[in-house]
Amino acid sequence: MLPFFTEKYGNPSSIHRFGGLIRRNVEKAREQAAALLNARPQEIYFTSCGTESDNMALQGFVRAHGRNCRVITSAVEHPAVLNTCRQLKKEGAEEFEIGVDADGMLLMDQLAAASIDENTIVSLMWANNETGVLFPIKEAAELVKARGGVFHTDAVQAAGKVAIDVTRVPVDMLAISGHKIHAPKGVGIMFIREGTPVAPLLFGGHQERGLRAGTENVPYIVGLGIACELAMRGMDEESARTRRMRDRLENALLKSCTGARLNGHKEARLPNTTNISFEFIEGEGVLLLLDEKGIAASSGSACTTGSLEPSHVMKAMGVPYTLAHSSIRFSLSRSTADRDIDAVIEALPPIVDRLRSLSPFVNS
Ligand code: PLP
Repeated sequence: MLPFFTEKYGNPSSIHRFGGLIRRNVEKAREQAAALLNARPQEIYFTSCGTESDNMALQGFVRAHGRNCRVITSAVEHPAVLNTCRQLKKEGAEEFEIGVDADGMLLMDQLAAASIDENTIVSLMWANNETGVLFPIKEAAELVKARGGVFHTDAVQAAGKVAIDVTRVPVDMLAISGHKIHAPKGVGIMFIREGTPVAPLLFGGHQERGLRAGTENVPYIVGLGIACELAMRGMDEESARTRRMRDRLENALLKSCTGARLNGHKEARLPNTTNISFEFIEGEGVLLLLDEKGIAASSGSACTTGSLEPSHVMKAMGVPYTLAHSSIRFSLSRSTADRDIDAVIEALPPIVDRLRSLSPFVNS
């Protein structure tokens, strides 16, 4: 990326040679991104992030259709999809959210029962960001296409971790975020199958074939292209390596931490994610004490107006209140090593015991 901040500073839209040289690098990145999905380069659009890609799909479809649209999504989507769908509802679209079972798996019968036609866009995530649960995207996309609808998937968590082939899975649109595949933050990908009805959200120049106006963020796009290439390299081995470490971590924590329970389907899951609740304690407390030991994890709950609300994903799965408050997501990556897993296995049980001894639920 570095030369594109300094000597290779041309604008890819310029006619002169500095621009032409840069354009070739943007197009190379487009080819690298297309290869990750087995798509064609002309089906790839660069955006500023996963959120923008999701908005481009959902708002772009509704704009292309006018107001008589139906937007169907799931109750466990990332806010980038869920809040966009809810906003479209406020603006006049019909909106419906499909539920999940106790394992966080999509209720396919609800999708089958929904009314889907050419005025419908269905947006379902490939993998959930809190639990890692993988939705049956191929079956869902086939069902939607058979009824004439348009299918979008938020593949932000799935890309680079599981194989995605758009020649096998009939999605019309697919969103990716750069930083989830080790590219910089602030760059994203939008796959749009040729012929999909989608109108631009940004008006201006003719960049990205008129669908996303604005001068391209060349260094980030170049970095994203390389990240796509690296993500493809050895994906199977890397996936097996992270799954082995993830399972070791999960089994050890479920065994040694009091009141620990796994959230999410055990099998249909990303290889790098585990989500565990520790009954009767607050997730935030666990995160702070882990942070003191240099261990970074995350919780799905959001601290709003002083009260800790369990995450919408845990609520949709029907996870009991005393467990939903303490759900912690551990995610592994290419940079995770066995010694990191050892450190968490050693650090967490005493933290859980300490917080439980302070818990008003246990002591009342
Ligand atoms: N969708 C999912 C599933 C995510 O996990 C995220 C980010 O964490 C996003 C969308 C948003 O991506 P970005 O932060 O690049 O806008």
